[in-house]
Amino acid sequence: CAQKETLGFQTEVKQLLHLMIHSLYSNQEIFLRELISNASDAADKLRFEALAKPELLEESPQLKIRLSFDSAARTLTIEDNGIGMSREEVIANLGTIAKSGTSDFLKQLSGDQKKDAHLIGQFGVGFYSAFIVADEVSVETRRAGASADSGVRWVSKGEGEFTIEAIERAERGTRITLHLKEACAEYADGWRLRNLIKKYSDHIALPIELPKEASGEDDKPAEPEWETANRASALWTRARTEVKDEEYGEFYKHIAHDFEDPLAWSHNKVEGKLEYTSLLYVPGRAPFDLYHREAPKGLKLYVQRVFIMDQAEQFLPLYLRFIKGVVDSNDLSLNVSREILQKDPNIDAMRGALTKRVLDMLEKLAKNDGEKYAKFWKAFGSVIKEGPAEDFANKEKIAGLLRFASTHAGNAEETVSLADYIARMVEGQDKLYYLTGESYDQVKNSPHLEVFRKKGIEVLLLTDRIDEWLMSYLTEFDGKQFVDVARGDLDLGALDSEEDKKAQEEVSKAKEGLLERLKKALSEQVSEVRVSHRLTDSPAILAIGEQDMGLQMRRILEASGQ
Ligand code: ADP
Ligand code: MG
Repeated sequence: CAQKETLGFQTEVKQLLHLMIHSLYSNQEIFLRELISNASDAADKLRFEALAKPELLEESPQLKIRLSFDSAARTLTIEDNGIGMSREEVIANLGTIAKSGTSDFLKQLSGDQKKDAHLIGQFGVGFYSAFIVADEVSVETRRAGASADSGVRWVSKGEGEFTIEAIERAERGTRITLHLKEACAEYADGWRLRNLIKKYSDHIALPIELPKEASGEDDKPAEPEWETANRASALWTRARTEVKDEEYGEFYKHIAHDFEDPLAWSHNKVEGKLEYTSLLYVPGRAPFDLYHREAPKGLKLYVQRVFIMDQAEQFLPLYLRFIKGVVDSNDLSLNVSREILQKDPNIDAMRGALTKRVLDMLEKLAKNDGEKYAKFWKAFGSVIKEGPAEDFANKEKIAGLLRFASTHAGNAEETVSLADYIARMVEGQDKLYYLTGESYDQVKNSPHLEVFRKKGIEVLLLTDRIDEWLMSYLTEFDGKQFVDVARGDLDLGALDSEEDKKAQEEVSKAKEGLLERLKKALSEQVSEVRVSHRLTDSPAILAIGEQDMGLQMRRILEASGQ
């Protein structure tokens, strides 16, 4: 029916709109990048669907984006001839937010403009950012392959509801018209738009066209002429030396839906048995849904420059799920599917190589820029800790990337690498000592540390929830064994002087009687009583058996009712 219908936005959309308009005002120009990014995605999707159904390209196989404006009417229009949307898609995509965890995320927002701007960036602003600069937005769209009378018009002032109606639309694709706020009139201007395209969207692989500037004469031609304002080639196909850092940064923002710069990237062309190009990024911060199971992960897959799928998960292990990027293969078939990817042995080889690239990139970041690495570790350290369990082959490399708190640093920050630790080992020490616990404050004064303090031996303090589980997979590094100082009998013999040893023997002998009595009295509660030389101040200590489950694990299992 051609009647106009009024529908309400989902509550989350209303909240997001409100927050975005207020907290992103100083970042307002990003709206253009977001809308162009969507138009480019729409072209990618059409090109992909047209592989199986070439008729979808209709009479206009040349995919492009066009910007036009009317400064007198204060409007700006962004038009693409991509996949378009059906009525149902419009309602779902431009009326709701489907990401899991959205309402939890929105609860974190504080009303503090700066903090919220940062958080919203982490969430991804997308289409709704149009309302930062516009007081009314109209979207006219028709899905590729659908008939001209199944066009849809969506109109909203961004205040809680939108209208939707059926329209005739001869062209496939989407036209978005922004009625700019008075204070945002500057965006209805060719020079301003050209600059924004250069700044944010030069890397977009299809042409972004603007009306050609009138050449001084007053009589305008009836048909506007168009000119391309961007470079219009896929960034990853260019030579590394020809791509500027800013361009790598903008491309990252487009594919990652982030608006902060990445920490590092690695761009490689691989030739030989398998031919592919990869461009991998380390983000500067964790997405809001890093720990959601259904959160998007994986790389964008292209085959010979044709977009195939988002979130191709087969190219990286789970513990590197935060890496964003593109892989463009010359060998895969254009009709490759997720199922095929899962079975293809070539993908395993690529996954191995890409994993190594990421680990090398992180190693390099740690070596060359400690500050950035610390930022990386804060955001993703806990995820990297899943590595040794998942990726046996790269265990040693991953261990080299780990950072811990320790008795040397004397604070709760995870800054100590295993290499740092080894460099500080005392003479005769051949083991890596660690202690796990609930919190830094709880472990820092543990009686288990007394003897180590006395001998000047550093102990790693592991208080992240995942640490004990991590250590059950990490048994050695650089040929040296890890030892939990809370377990069994600590053999620090090699580190004792002859004098110490003699004194210890005497003590042991003198306490034999006491030991017997304690064993009898505690026989129900403990499996063994021993004389220990590891305490200096405390009279006694409870130790865990060599083979027993650690305390942290016990608590986790207890908490989960096991
Ligand atoms: P994202 O791009 O992260 O998915 P957006 O808020 O930017 O989120 O867009 C929401 C959805 O709306 C897109 O995923 C897409 O399905 C749809 N959409 C937006 N713009 C267009 C467009 N120009 N053509 C077709 N679909 C679009
Ligand atoms: Mg988008």
